[in-house]
Parts: sequence; structure tokens; C-alpha cells
Amino acid sequence: MKVEEKLFQNRYRVDADRPHIRIKNESVCNDGCVSRACVVCCPAGCWSFEEGKIGLITDGCLECGTCRVVCDTHGNVDWNYPRAGFGILFKFG
Ligand code: SF4
Repeated sequence: MKVEEKLFQNRYRVDADRPHIRIKNESVCNDGCVSRACVVCCPAGCWSFEEGKIGLITDGCLECGTCRVVCDTHGNVDWNYPRAGFGILFKFG
């Protein structure tokens, strides 16, 4: 089974209006970051950069923490696990 097929088996319970990851200051991403590594590194494609603006949609987040780690230069990612009962439910551990 391909990785994409395994990921499709996961389920996600969205905590509406309470995303577990937030961008502290969007202008830092838009104007002060050269690499925007979060956009490249996120395995779930939660991050985007289009028309000069950073975007983050946490639905489908795998809770890997990569975006927080790769933003170590700016420390602009406010990262927490979802509240109990919300977030990713892995089918294949
Ligand atoms: Fe993407 Fe991982 Fe960050 Fe979730 S924790 S937004 S999957 S890089």
C-alpha cells in the first residue's frame, strides 16, 4: 500500500474555531522570511504561500511538529497539540 493510500485512511476531527497551530505574526512570514520552509516541509500541505501571503489550514495536520522546528529562525509558529478528542486519528499508527 502506498503512503498516500495509508494517509487517506486517517481521520481528523476538526476543533472548529480553535486551530492548534497559529501564526504569531503573518507579516514575518510574508515579508521577513526567505525560505518559507513550512510550505515546503509540511507533509500534509497545510501551509501555502500565494500572492505574497502565507496561509495555514490545520485540517488534516499530522501533528508531526515539523513546521515548528523549521521555523526556528523566526519562532513564528505557535504550536500546541489539539484538545483531547480532536485532531488526527491514525489508522496505521
Ligand atoms: Fe504540517 Fe506537521 Fe506542521 Fe501539521 S505539524 S502543519 S503536518 S508540518
